[in-house]
Amino acid sequence: MRAIRIGIVGVGKIARDQHLPCIAANPAFALVAGASRHAQLPGIANFRTLEQMLDGVPELDAIAICTPPQLHFDAAKLALERGKHVLMEKPPCASLAQLAHLKKLAGAAQRTLYQTWHSQHAPAVAPAGRLLEVRRLRRVRVTWKEDVLKWHPGQTWIWQAGGFGVFDPGINALSILTRLIAEPIFPRSALLLVPANLEAPIAAELDLLTVGGVEIGVSLDFRHTGPQTWDIDFETDQGPFKLSAGGGALTVDGEPARGEAGELHGEYISIYRAFAQLIAAGRSEVDARPLELVADIFLTGRQVAVAPFEEPGSMAR
Ligand code: NAP
Repeated sequence: MRAIRIGIVGVGKIARDQHLPCIAANPAFALVAGASRHAQLPGIANFRTLEQMLDGVPELDAIAICTPPQLHFDAAKLALERGKHVLMEKPPCASLAQLAHLKKLAGAAQRTLYQTWHSQHAPAVAPAGRLLEVRRLRRVRVTWKEDVLKWHPGQTWIWQAGGFGVFDPGINALSILTRLIAEPIFPRSALLLVPANLEAPIAAELDLLTVGGVEIGVSLDFRHTGPQTWDIDFETDQGPFKLSAGGGALTVDGEPARGEAGELHGEYISIYRAFAQLIAAGRSEVDARPLELVADIFLTGRQVAVAPFEEPGSMAR
């Protein structure tokens, strides 16, 4: 079968770290074009905008959107309207109505919209799901703490409205929760700490509850230094288990049950395999639950201004 001719939009950190190597490793895809204001990729057609790319390479079958989330909707809408399959990075967009509209557009255009949550593909998430099929959940604790200066240097978009702030990585934890817990989850209370000079939270303390009464405590913090923590602790009627390394590793009753992974490549290999399968099957995949949870948290949460935050050496903010 002919390879799916794909173009990449927004050549930044995640495009270079994951999308480019995982497209190259998957014979179902052929990277033919890139659309980025500054980046130029060797051996393919390069454009500054998606529109120019769609005009310049009309035979394109699909695009992967790797720009900041504020730009996902316009790019996905344009590509679907032009008859392309679309893979979207997380978070899908900054509006639930936009996401619903994209889903509708994909259906009308009979094109695949694959709205990804990469952490759901982390290797220990499915084994954790199998544990929850036979254990009764009692309580959950999420600790997602990382140094923003290490992981998001120079990313001014993350601090702007629609950039999600600490929820940019935090939504990964929520996407694992919504994958593992089928019943509705909603916020009981939420405290969002927003630097006085910025528009998005730098930290958050969340008290979530499932409809069945399971309490889920969540701590998100971008101000963290030292060892980074992407952990979810589950208490069940048959003892505890823990997902760590962002869903890469599983510890059951204190014993390692799933090897240390912690690297993203497996997640994106799985994502591109799924994208090819969805295109072949003529289906879309859109999972709004993590975004709904973030929207509920912003709707009901209390925002508190904290000390201004400046990236050392940055005049951008
Ligand atoms: P990034 O390093 O800032 O890259 C995004 C790229 O988009 C930029 O390099 C830029 O390339 C392009 N862009 C176009 N318009 C832009 C604008 N107005 N402002 C800023 N950049 C613009 O960001 P990233 O970390 O790759 O994240 C992109 C998306 O992937 C986000 O939705 C993020 O949540 C998601 N993601 C990131 C990671 C990670 O580890 N970083 C992991 C998983 C998912 P040009 O300047 O050449 O146009």
